[in-house]
Amino acid sequence: MNGRHKAIAAAFKLMAATGADRWSRGFAQGAGVILTLHHVRPRRARGFAPNALLEITPEFLDATLGLVRAEGYDIVSLDEALLRLQGPKRGRFFVAFTFDDGYRDNVEHAWPVLAKHGAPWTLFVTPGFADRTARLWWLELEEAIRALPRLDLALPDGRFAANAGTDAEKARAFDRLYWRLRNGPEAILLSAISDLMAAAGIDSAALVERECLPWETLRSLSGAPGVTIGAHTMTHPRLAKLDAEAARREIVESKARLEAEFGMPIRHFAYPVGDPPSAGPRDFALAREADFVSAVTTRPGHLAPEHVAHVHALPRVSLNGLHQNEPALRALLAGLPFWLMNRGRVAVTD
Ligand SMILES: [Zn+2]
Repeated sequence: MNGRHKAIAAAFKLMAATGADRWSRGFAQGAGVILTLHHVRPRRARGFAPNALLEITPEFLDATLGLVRAEGYDIVSLDEALLRLQGPKRGRFFVAFTFDDGYRDNVEHAWPVLAKHGAPWTLFVTPGFADRTARLWWLELEEAIRALPRLDLALPDGRFAANAGTDAEKARAFDRLYWRLRNGPEAILLSAISDLMAAAGIDSAALVERECLPWETLRSLSGAPGVTIGAHTMTHPRLAKLDAEAARREIVESKARLEAEFGMPIRHFAYPVGDPPSAGPRDFALAREADFVSAVTTRPGHLAPEHVAHVHALPRVSLNGLHQNEPALRALLAGLPFWLMNRGRVAVTD
C-alpha cells in the first residue's frame, strides 16, 4: 500500500474511532449511494498486484451486504434508485450495487453472495469483451510487466525505460507508465501496451477470454430476477479522448448491440474509467441523446435530490480492494469522506 492509501486508511480508522460515520449522517449521507465493483474473487497472494484496488473478496462482499442490511438500508436496482431520487418524500437510505466490464468472477463469486442477501445488482457490459475483440489494457500492462525483466518503449513524447526485475521495480514501473499513458491519447496508450504485450509474448484476446463472460452466460444473466444489464461502450475507450462521432458510436452501438443480443431495452450506461479526464459534459450529453435513463461516472460521491437534474453524470463510490475493512466501509456508507472532498456539499453537479 502506498503512502496515499495509508493516509486514507488512517482517516477511515479515525472516522470510526470518533464515531464520525454516525454523527455525520444527517448532513453527509444524502439519499443513497451507487457502489462500483469490478472483480470479486478469493484473495491471491502476489507481491506485484497493481490492479488490486479493482478486486474484493467474496467474504468482503458478504460483509458489505450484511452491514448494509444491519444498518437498515434498502438495497435497490438502478431503476428504483432513480425513482427514489425523483420521489417527493424522503425514504430510507438506499444502496445500489453496480459491477463494471462483465467479469466471469461476478457470476461465479459475486452472484451467489448477492442472491443470499436478496440484493438486486447491475452489470455494465462491454460487448467488445464478450466478442473477445476489445482490450483489458490495464490488465495487459500488469501481465506484460509481470513477464518482462526490463521495459524499453519508444513513445511519441520520448523513451520510457525502467528495470522491472523485482516486485518493487515492477510496481514502480507500472505506476510511472500507467499514469503517463493515462494522461495521453487513447491510440498511444493502446499501441504502447501492444508493444509490451508483443515483447512479453502474451495474447490480448486470451486475457479477455480468461477474465470476461461469454455471450452465452450474459444471455442467461439478462433474464435473471434482480439482475439489470447496462451498457459500457463497445470497446471500453476513455470517451473524452475520442472525437464526438467516435464517442457517439461507442455509446449508441453498445446499447443497440445489447438490446439485439438480449431482446430487452438497455436503460443504463456507465462511462469507462469514468473520471473527469475520461468522461466529460460532451459525453454526458451523448448518453442523454442515446436515450439512456441514467449514466454513471466514477466521480466519488453519494446521491442527493439535486442529482435528478444530472442523471447522466451520477457519482459512484468504489468498493476499493485496498480498503476491505469495516471502518472503511462505514465511512464510505456514511458519505463523510466525499462530503469533505466536495467541500461540504453532498451533490456536486458541475
Ligand atoms: Zn470498465
